[in-house]
Amino acid sequence: MRNVLLVKYGEIAMRGKNRYLIENKLIWTIIKRLEKYSGYKVYKEQGRLLVVNEEGEFDYETVIPIVTKILGVVAVCPGVEFEDQSIESLRKHALAHFKEQYPDGNVSFKVVARRSDKRYPMTSNEIGADVGGYILHNMENLKVDVHNPDVTLMVELRNNAYVYSKLIKAYGGLPYGSSGKATVLLSGGIDSPVAAFLMAKRGVEIEAIYFDSPPYTSERAKQKVLDIAEKIAEYTGALKLYVVPFTDVQLKIYENTPPEKMTILLKRAMLKTAQKVAENNKSMGLVTGDSIGQVASQTMEAIRAIDSAAQMPVFRPLCAMDKQEIVDVSVKIGTYDISIRPYEDCCTVFVAKHPETKPKKSIIEAIEKKIDGLDELIDLSIENVKIYEF
Ligand code: ATP
Ligand code: MG
Repeated sequence: MRNVLLVKYGEIAMRGKNRYLIENKLIWTIIKRLEKYSGYKVYKEQGRLLVVNEEGEFDYETVIPIVTKILGVVAVCPGVEFEDQSIESLRKHALAHFKEQYPDGNVSFKVVARRSDKRYPMTSNEIGADVGGYILHNMENLKVDVHNPDVTLMVELRNNAYVYSKLIKAYGGLPYGSSGKATVLLSGGIDSPVAAFLMAKRGVEIEAIYFDSPPYTSERAKQKVLDIAEKIAEYTGALKLYVVPFTDVQLKIYENTPPEKMTILLKRAMLKTAQKVAENNKSMGLVTGDSIGQVASQTMEAIRAIDSAAQMPVFRPLCAMDKQEIVDVSVKIGTYDISIRPYEDCCTVFVAKHPETKPKKSIIEAIEKKIDGLDELIDLSIENVKIYEF
């Protein structure tokens, strides 16, 4: 008998021929994340994965928070694995597991059995009823509740037998890096970290870019972004962040644009710069944290006037989410507390009092064309990029 962690994953099963590649990616990721703890191995076991420790005790407190952050994992279940599938053995291990997990027994429960070998002398229902009866007989304070139990004890017969009773939800999605690559425009705000996470959750490998405008933006504002990148890397395994010095670009726009159009031109400059970085790192698209209607530059008109600056797709995974929904995700993934630190990512000097909410694309493009040397400043900013790796 040994302690194991069952790892459930979802959508991969639907992906036909790619399935094995993607499963292997997930296995490899789990092995890599657990590398620094000795003895952990991962096995495939009929549509799920099995993490075991072949050298010592299974340290669930360490392993569960790591594995539940791996994108593509739907849920994990701590349990035991044993060879002997006789009904006596099932009873014994189920009772031991139950006593260990719920020592005072003050819960309602049911037992659900599953068997892959249909030659087993009892049906699944008979096994469930037998094991349930045995536990009930040997513990006090227990109640059976087949409709809405506190605890569902699973007994599964496969190549080996498994008993488990807790299902800890993870994020689901697809294994990181199984869906191509994109570059995320990452600010220190609440939104773009969530956008980055949601793309990563769909399997998209991400790199991030932050536009830094010292002295108009502070060192602490930049530190926020570094801390956010580090947090996102807990899910993605690693993250590259390009910090692009943007002060000169920003000043150039400031000096040559009517204030109410400034934000749109600045956002266009960001997209143009990000696209050049993205092309160099083989990204297939850009990602921003825009949500429709949230601020002046996030109306449909503004987004249209901004988007024509880029020749690659610009993904906006938050576009249809409400602020509260975005906040909920950011709290869950742990970026919220960093994002609400009070250092602004853009100086108030560059924010117009009355930004235009319905800019005309053609007018914006005409103004931009007339700004002498803007493209050169953008190229220069990329030459001076500083790269951080998490
Ligand atoms: P966030 O919460 O992500 O900061 P926001 O609600 O403040 O977004 P804006 O400031 O209009 O909205 O920014 C919209 C998007 O533009 C951001 O989500 C981000 O993707 C990108 N962005 C804005 N400022 C920067 C910056 N300094 N560096 C990198 N990306 C930026
Ligand atoms: Mg912001």
